[in-house]
Amino acid sequence: MTAPVPLSEQQQHHEYFQPQPVAPPNAHFQPSGMDPKGMVALQPYIHTAVDHPSGYNAATPLHALQRGPTPVDCPTCGVREMTRTEPESGNTTHGWAALICCCFCLGCIPYMMSSLKDYNHYCGQCGAMLATWHNSGRVEVHQNVRR
Ligand SMILES: [Zn+2]
Repeated sequence: MTAPVPLSEQQQHHEYFQPQPVAPPNAHFQPSGMDPKGMVALQPYIHTAVDHPSGYNAATPLHALQRGPTPVDCPTCGVREMTRTEPESGNTTHGWAALICCCFCLGCIPYMMSSLKDYNHYCGQCGAMLATWHNSGRVEVHQNVRR
């Protein structure tokens, strides 16, 4: 094993690096020199369900977090961003090695192992540790929302 990189960390980092939702400020129709075919692009029904600049219309309270990534209002940096989740045990190398090993033997073991772990939620923006989801269903909030 040489320098194993936690795969989940990389994937999630890219996955949540989302571009801003498309909301052109000059969406109004401007007749000057516009090709009639261009009118097709004008959609009267714009997705108004998501109007928060982050793209996440509703933030989840930290104490209501589940195991998976969830959009929250980060109390540290104030940005609404999808959380990054990692298993509680900091040393993921052994975990992944064990998971991969078991994967070849017993298909159900990895799922069981991962489902028994606690998960830490980190802010997707500033990386602050926000809360820990325990497999007992309890959520430990590390950052209290102020203001
Ligand atoms: Zn943050």
